[in-house]
Amino acid sequence: MKKIVFATNNNHKLSEIRAMLPDDIEILSLAEIGCHEDIPETADTLEGNAEQKARFIYDRYGYDCFADDTGLEVDALGGAPGVHTARYAGEDHNTEANTDKLLHELKENFERHARFRTVIALIIKNEVHFFDGIVEGEIATERRGTDGFGYDPVFIPEKTGKTFAELGVEVKNKISHRARAVKKLVTYLKEVR
Ligand code: IMP
Repeated sequence: MKKIVFATNNNHKLSEIRAMLPDDIEILSLAEIGCHEDIPETADTLEGNAEQKARFIYDRYGYDCFADDTGLEVDALGGAPGVHTARYAGEDHNTEANTDKLLHELKENFERHARFRTVIALIIKNEVHFFDGIVEGEIATERRGTDGFGYDPVFIPEKTGKTFAELGVEVKNKISHRARAVKKLVTYLKEVR
């Protein structure tokens, strides 16, 4: 049985990837390896943060490991909030405040094109491999829908006309940035197992 740590305690992310992997690849969470430390995320790119988190676990705990980092990139804001997406409105990672700030920054702006981008860094045998997933879309002018989390009520993936929060988790998980990155990771893990 191959054991790989996913540097997260987010149950939604864990079950999403476990459902896609064959039985001989076991995914362990941070809690399951006894890691309760704050893992630093101080890089200035999504790639840098994902690698930093995976490297932290690989070096200290000795497991092959992967970590993800996601950013929302808004064209009219020069790609912001990008790597600062989780702490856009402050260090307390407040989702409501982050969304308020985004709507405020865009105001009545007609140019609302944006993308979600997830980067996964996998460290196996001390080598780093990156997988990314992108979903293009636009920022709504107000919150719509109740499903999901984070910026879901204001992100409209292209060709849907609905926000992620209106589309619901099942549809979202088929087309999302993270699902696309995870799919590439799973294909790779199946090849090298
Ligand atoms: P993380 O890298 O998964 O921690 O996400 C970074 C930031 O992006 C957090 O503020 C999340 O709320 C937000 N975020 C990540 N994925 C999604 C998503 O699928 N929908 C809405 N917001 C997201």
